[in-house]
Amino acid sequence: MSKTFKIAVIPGDGIGPEVINEGIKVLQKVAEQSDFQFEFTHFPWGCEYYVEHGKMMADDGIEQLKSFDAIYLGAVGYPGVPDHISLWDLLLKIRKEFDQYVNIRPITLLKGAPCPLKNVKREDIDMLFIRENSEGEYAGAGDWLFKGKPEEVVLQTGVFSRKGTERIIRYAFETAQKMKKSVTSISKGNALNYSMVFWDQVFEEVSRDYPDVPTYSYLVDAASMFMITQPKRFEVVVTSNLFGDILTDLGAALAGGLGLAAGANINPERAYPSMFEPIHGSAPDIAGKGLANPLAAIWSASQMLDFFGYEQQGRMVLDAIEQLLVEKEVLTPDMGGTASTSEVGDRVVELLNNR
Ligand code: ATP
Ligand code: MG
Repeated sequence: MSKTFKIAVIPGDGIGPEVINEGIKVLQKVAEQSDFQFEFTHFPWGCEYYVEHGKMMADDGIEQLKSFDAIYLGAVGYPGVPDHISLWDLLLKIRKEFDQYVNIRPITLLKGAPCPLKNVKREDIDMLFIRENSEGEYAGAGDWLFKGKPEEVVLQTGVFSRKGTERIIRYAFETAQKMKKSVTSISKGNALNYSMVFWDQVFEEVSRDYPDVPTYSYLVDAASMFMITQPKRFEVVVTSNLFGDILTDLGAALAGGLGLAAGANINPERAYPSMFEPIHGSAPDIAGKGLANPLAAIWSASQMLDFFGYEQQGRMVLDAIEQLLVEKEVLTPDMGGTASTSEVGDRVVELLNNR
């Protein structure tokens, strides 16, 4: 019996179902050519579900997802349902309950992908962002004092635990060591005099366990500049939740835009399922029209293959995306083409045929 991976599919809202469809097509094709298979189970959770049931997912949703090998998520969000509900009651809940403390975002400029910088070569932009995904500035800690009074004060506290900081930095070093790349830490120790001083200290401590891995450390302001002027400096990058959020959007713009930006939420211990998703949202403005670019969702499917240990197959999918970008014949309108979402998915499948 060949290995079967059980995938929980949450297509979600807006363009989510459209792009996830194409990702599934691609995964099916890869499985057909390999010695494993996928079993997909769909969950109709999201904002439409919320409108009907008053909640984003079933009460025992987390329990239901627990036994899967991975979660494949489209996007959640809908005009009329407040972001804090759609985000906190589904996406962030899954990330938290399944301790997906690593957020991996590849910032790789594929050949043929649009880039706003002039005279860059493909190999100049090839970074792997490893963003802390469980605490930091997004821990939700703070206070709102004297609300509405003249002496009103609002506190937003970053929470950096020893365990949380060490494990994300260690994950970056482990990854870089395997890839024979450097690790760059991005922080702000000169202004954030508790959290980032601590971050820098832990980075320094952990780095001693990896004498063979070259390390760099930049302030976040300088790093934002270098990402544009000298992107080649960055290979594996480790940073906090907030800085990672901002810098990976900057990175997405460098490497072809939202239509190509993929992300993975990983629980490295594999105690719980990890989750793979395009980083774009539900894009209600183009939903249901076949205009959505499925390449980000397909790229996150390739990350899923990597995570399962099928790196050669993951690479094949990425190569097919790259070939499609180079050909420039079958592209969605956001990339200047006229093809539909499913035509792009079909073309990726066709290109996989020839590999
Ligand atoms: P959400 O509220 O779920 O975050 P959003 O309206 O913010 O949704 P995003 O998906 O974050 O939308 O992206 C902003 C815009 O970028 C969209 O409105 C859409 O026009 C465009 N866009 C995003 N993703 C894609 C895609 N995969 N293909 C084509 N265009 C896209
Ligand atoms: Mg959005």
